[in-house]
Amino acid sequence: MSNFKFAKRIETLPPYLFAEIDRIKAEVAARGVDIISLGIGDNDLPTPDFIIDAMCEAARNPRFHRYPSYVGLLAFREAVAEWYKTRFGVEDLDPKTEIITLIGSKEGIAHFPLAFINPGDLTLVCTPNYPVPPVAAGFLGGEVEFLPLYEENNFLPDLDKVSEETWRRAKMIYVNYPNNPTSAVAPREFFEKLVGLCRKYEVILMQDAAYTEVYYDEADKPMSVLEIPGAKDVAIEFHSLSKTFNMTGWRLGMAVGNATLVKGLGKVKENVDSGAFEAVQQAGIVALQQGAPYTEKFRAVYRERRDAVLAALKEAGIEYVEPKATFYIWAKVPKGYGSSAEFVSRVIQEKGVVLTPGNGFGEPGEGWFRISLTIDTPRLMEAVERIKTL
Ligand code: PLP
Repeated sequence: MSNFKFAKRIETLPPYLFAEIDRIKAEVAARGVDIISLGIGDNDLPTPDFIIDAMCEAARNPRFHRYPSYVGLLAFREAVAEWYKTRFGVEDLDPKTEIITLIGSKEGIAHFPLAFINPGDLTLVCTPNYPVPPVAAGFLGGEVEFLPLYEENNFLPDLDKVSEETWRRAKMIYVNYPNNPTSAVAPREFFEKLVGLCRKYEVILMQDAAYTEVYYDEADKPMSVLEIPGAKDVAIEFHSLSKTFNMTGWRLGMAVGNATLVKGLGKVKENVDSGAFEAVQQAGIVALQQGAPYTEKFRAVYRERRDAVLAALKEAGIEYVEPKATFYIWAKVPKGYGSSAEFVSRVIQEKGVVLTPGNGFGEPGEGWFRISLTIDTPRLMEAVERIKTL
């Protein structure tokens, strides 16, 4: 037996709320209950065949069996630049200096603060939100200030409420639109204001764009922050092929934007990892070039699931935010069912349905829960029917 102690940064991590849910889930499963999990945000639809074929062909090429380039294949980065041009109208990206390949966007988001955050530096992070950025900044001894996202402000941070002193102190801000878990989409005016503030106070802007392709109506089509004039002075956008082409397990993403920010991330990466498998990048090139019609098909599947679940929730009298993007539904814990955690653990115990408690994404998520639309419609409907009988 060893007495090795975890480093303080691990010991002081907040308790992992989802571990308690896993414990209850295991207990319920042991009773033989058929569990339906609406907890995990992991696409269930398969990667399209033409992407798999491209990968298989590339994997047979010994050229790709060696260490990959740290910054990624130039051909992949060129395909990213082209995709940004056709999808977002962002014309002037230099694939050599303004784009870097990632082993999935989580890797880039977690490593990026290493390049720019010193102990004591302040990072602003929206909450409820994807938990990786505050943890990464915290690991470095950085300070984190949370900006709450409330329904009355369409789950956007109220930038006017951030004091001048905070803006002056801040080194970095992390935003994520379309947003996990609230499903909110940021309008152009929000990004314009944010870019303006970041330019004024020289604050690094991290925008997490993992869900831009999971939207429901053309009218709500999410934008890239790099569409805003001047954004490239301050912004780096993290993107991923995970949600866009159902490639979560392939681990492929990209960071795009300001050349110094991209270079800093590259410096971290060349010291801690050796890049993404180049056969996977070859498949990524094909996905970016030919994948749009497939993404449209995935959107249709999520649209059908979303509409079915929203109708059932409405019938059950459960309030929700109608998602404009992402495959999540952000819904309110019905009155009389206690806190998010109490409601979610009751639904698992009594109905065998796993939901995610809203406060797991940050304190302002209390009173909410998240449904993930990554299982098929009949099972989704069965889950909602079970919740209705609670
Ligand atoms: N950003 C957000 C908001 C996410 O929800 C996720 C994954 O669920 C990621 C980034 C990471 O995605 P990946 O590492 O698969 O690119």
